Amino acid sequence: MAEEKILGWAGRAVWADLTRGKIVKRPIERKILKDFLGGRGLNDKVLFDEVRPRIDPLGPENVLCLAVGPLTGTSFTCSSRIEVSTLSPQSYILGDGNSGGTFPAFLKFAGYDQIVITGRSSKPAYLLIDEDEVELREATELWGRNTWETTEMLQEKHGRDFRVASIGQAGENLVRFASIIFDKYGSAARGSGAVSGSKKLKAIAVRGSKKVGVAREEEFERLAEEDRKFFLSDETQRLISKYGTHLGVTRWWPGYRYFSKFLSEDEVPEEIKPEGWKKYEIRRSGCHGCVVACKNVYRIPEGRYAGEIGSGLEYETIFCLGTNCGILDAVSIMVIGNLADKYGMCTIPLGNTIAFAKYLYQRGIITKRDTDGLSLDWEEVDDQIELIHRTALREGFGNVIAEGMLGLAKVVDKGAMDYCYHVKGLSRGPSDYPIGVFTLAHATSTRGADHLRGRSWAFGENDPEVFPELVRRGLMPKDPVPALILSENAVTLSDCIGRCKGGVNSWVSAVPLVFKYPIFEGVAMALSAETGLSFTVPSIMESLERIYTLERAFLVRQGITRKHDRLVQRSEVMGTPRGEEERRNHERMLSDYYRQRGWDQDGIPTRATLERLGLKYVADEIERDAPYPDWDGPPLWPLEKYPHGGNRA
Ligand code: SF4
Repeated sequence: MAEEKILGWAGRAVWADLTRGKIVKRPIERKILKDFLGGRGLNDKVLFDEVRPRIDPLGPENVLCLAVGPLTGTSFTCSSRIEVSTLSPQSYILGDGNSGGTFPAFLKFAGYDQIVITGRSSKPAYLLIDEDEVELREATELWGRNTWETTEMLQEKHGRDFRVASIGQAGENLVRFASIIFDKYGSAARGSGAVSGSKKLKAIAVRGSKKVGVAREEEFERLAEEDRKFFLSDETQRLISKYGTHLGVTRWWPGYRYFSKFLSEDEVPEEIKPEGWKKYEIRRSGCHGCVVACKNVYRIPEGRYAGEIGSGLEYETIFCLGTNCGILDAVSIMVIGNLADKYGMCTIPLGNTIAFAKYLYQRGIITKRDTDGLSLDWEEVDDQIELIHRTALREGFGNVIAEGMLGLAKVVDKGAMDYCYHVKGLSRGPSDYPIGVFTLAHATSTRGADHLRGRSWAFGENDPEVFPELVRRGLMPKDPVPALILSENAVTLSDCIGRCKGGVNSWVSAVPLVFKYPIFEGVAMALSAETGLSFTVPSIMESLERIYTLERAFLVRQGITRKHDRLVQRSEVMGTPRGEEERRNHERMLSDYYRQRGWDQDGIPTRATLERLGLKYVADEIERDAPYPDWDGPPLWPLEKYPHGGNRA
């Protein structure tokens, strides 16, 4: 009997074994697609099954997965998204990052849901995907070049209709927070660039023209049109189209000088307020097919990089590499943002690590002897820019910054760890908010402290003022623990179906059709119409629970237990009566969170929960090899062992 055609998804993956130079196209079973939805879920499944616990993330045994979702490449807006997942060299737990651009849609048009990279090439290589033709090519002439040059060279060689994901010198030099950069400006964080570099994979170029198959086209298009209309008519979404995440500079209290305070609207200089950036903007742009088009395109007006054009400068870059490092002028922030994109580094850990180093420098824990003469004074721009070059090239003190916050604290020692505000190796700083959903979200995130795993939705945007009707009907919980779980599930959904979490990562933009068919009803309708399979709200909820629980099981194998779901506290608060009270509240919420997730009180998913979710083999495995040695961050290499160098950007 002929195999039933899969609609919505492409139904196949490219597996590239770099050690053997072998490419295999594998069909993806319908049940896997239904159970894990796509994107992040598909990647999680491969990673749990293929990555053995506690391997070196920078060794050939690690696996790098890139996957799009069922909505990617369709007429649904905000859906050209790709999830990149691996065992992170930055955190030593699951590391995934999500990027937009045009590459994700083109991968789907080429006829693939996923790329899985295994092994290590003996020489630099790139993966060329031209519709059904997939091959590995030598990339020696690209090695040492930045992501913009690499993209240009590959498009020059193969055609402008190819889309390129690449690593820069930071990835080649195994900088632990190096990203894969999509279409020059989109960054997939948590160290995917370093893993790609360790495998000697410089780039992936893709071209495709296939249409995504849809089961009930009229119904699907009607839903997509309703969704688009919402974005085009909603007042907040129009502001996002105009300002993107720059809106956050005056709304989200960016940290200043390594979180010494959080800036109010009045304290933010006019130059870096949303309207201030307009001076440098030459146009707006967006990911493939997105009606929001939240990205700025700007031109640097002066200095060494005068005339250079950048795009997608986000709030996080302004905050982490700007205000939190004490840098408050727009031109410097644009230069720094472009350098990060060109070298291929995530701006958040790069900024946090430099801000942390600057803080240690102010306290006298490190001096110019440690920094090779560079000044780490807060307002010192030129030396900060120089430090970014040295980080990407792993030169001098940059070789220490390249280890990330946790690595920096370990290398410096001398009490530095007391000020390293991380959860599982990732940082969002200490919070000045009361203990609650905000702090709990950072503690429980399955990729380490992070603003996009649940926190911001649970904390702000599901406020009764935004969705009064949903709260009144009991669809959106007011209590912090169920509110967080719902938010974590919603983020998981976006990352799986290939939907952007939106310019300001709010519910209304991330969960398709939620404004009209709450909360996952619209998604169930869209996926059913698209794939011809039956999706219901309970079936979607179960998939999301399955995916999140599988992620936790992955973390358990890496040695994560309750104590790692920690509350970040300022050193001056720790041990005080207030600090102790906060910790007790945190522990109470954590216990409740585990109960509601179906995990035991050490944060380990129970057998009953795993079996209910169809993950018996996962229960068998984590029981068989338990207990796991305690997580203590990534296994750091001796600094002299790292590759270094490459062209200066
Ligand atoms: S909202 Fe912005 S980031 Fe999201 S898909 Fe649209 S253009 Fe891309």
